[in-house]
Amino acid sequence: MATVYFDEATRRFTAQDPPAVDAVTLDIADGEFLVLVGPSGCGKSTTLRMLAGLEPIDGGRILIDGHDQKGVRPRDRDVAMVFQSYALYPNMSAAENMAFALRNFGVSKADADARVAEAAKILELENLLDRKPGAMSGGQRQRVAMGRAIVRNPKVFCMDEPLSNLDAKLRVSTRSQIARLQRRLGITTVYVTHDQVEAMTMGHRVAVLKDGKLQQVDTPERLYDHPVNAFVASFIGSPAIYLTKAAVAQGVADVHGTPVPLERELAARAGDQVTIGLRPEAWQVVPKGTPRSVDLVVDLVEVLGSESFVYGHPTAGDEADRITVKLDERTRIALGDVIAVQPDPAGAHFFDATTGDSLRP
Ligand code: ATP
Repeated sequence: MATVYFDEATRRFTAQDPPAVDAVTLDIADGEFLVLVGPSGCGKSTTLRMLAGLEPIDGGRILIDGHDQKGVRPRDRDVAMVFQSYALYPNMSAAENMAFALRNFGVSKADADARVAEAAKILELENLLDRKPGAMSGGQRQRVAMGRAIVRNPKVFCMDEPLSNLDAKLRVSTRSQIARLQRRLGITTVYVTHDQVEAMTMGHRVAVLKDGKLQQVDTPERLYDHPVNAFVASFIGSPAIYLTKAAVAQGVADVHGTPVPLERELAARAGDQVTIGLRPEAWQVVPKGTPRSVDLVVDLVEVLGSESFVYGHPTAGDEADRITVKLDERTRIALGDVIAVQPDPAGAHFFDATTGDSLRP
């Protein structure tokens, strides 16, 4: 087990482009499950590969257990990597795949066999140990790749989108399996995904990256409730938050004709314009014709059993201006209906209209 510290870690692939990883500072506790999330190309994999020693560092440092990893070869870092592709040897059985690295590290056959047997038990692979990857399902291969990392009993797990090749249902069950396993083993884990649902459900904390820069590191709840900027607000949460620019006069923002008051100090920071964020649960459907409500044309209705989401755009706006409303019940609202909705000011997020930074300190 180990702590991991990124100290302004930077990776610049070319002199002319901005760094792929730009002075990232991140303090990961012993035994923590940290998820790195962000859109494609934001630098997640590069950050992880720098920790594993697969990518050089052009600036800053990375410490494992307080030791600077500069010049330490990947195999000497005691970091086990799980890749999206699984990277299993096709001509080796599951057991051989798991034992391979151990044997390379000089672990005796008896010890390697014992560790493989233990990992196979944890991962419910006992009946598959003699099978080759070609004769296994995606989920089974994924577990072998996990097993190969577990048997090493490393200081740190690095996982790069390990669930991407699984179908939706298997992803959900494997997601909770990995999270449980990590808690049980207590091995410090850095997990890369572009899937914000994975990020929100698996990690102790989530680090959100954009353009190589760390935006916010926080618990899933705090990221959702207190995003530091409009980017984090829009990236975290599914369905996505509604973000719109609104004029502010006398401390009240105007969202499609509906007043949303700002607390006094927020109004002072906002000036005459603000970016407002309203999550699906911050809207409610009201009777048509209710004064100061927004009329929405319904573009899509998702009934998910115990809850529903209604997506629509203001009658006065265009379709890209999409508002999502969460209903805690099934709904009779149908495609093409026009409904009236109102925002709950208590659920509103306020961001600087120019920088996108939260107006809350
Ligand atoms: P994805 O979710 O699509 O895998 P990512 O967030 O993991 O993306 P990285 O793979 O870390 O992103 O890439 C970050 C940036 O660095 C991208 O702009 C990418 O094009 C660039 N990059 C990555 N590897 C190289 C390389 N070997 N040479 C030049 N540029 C690279």
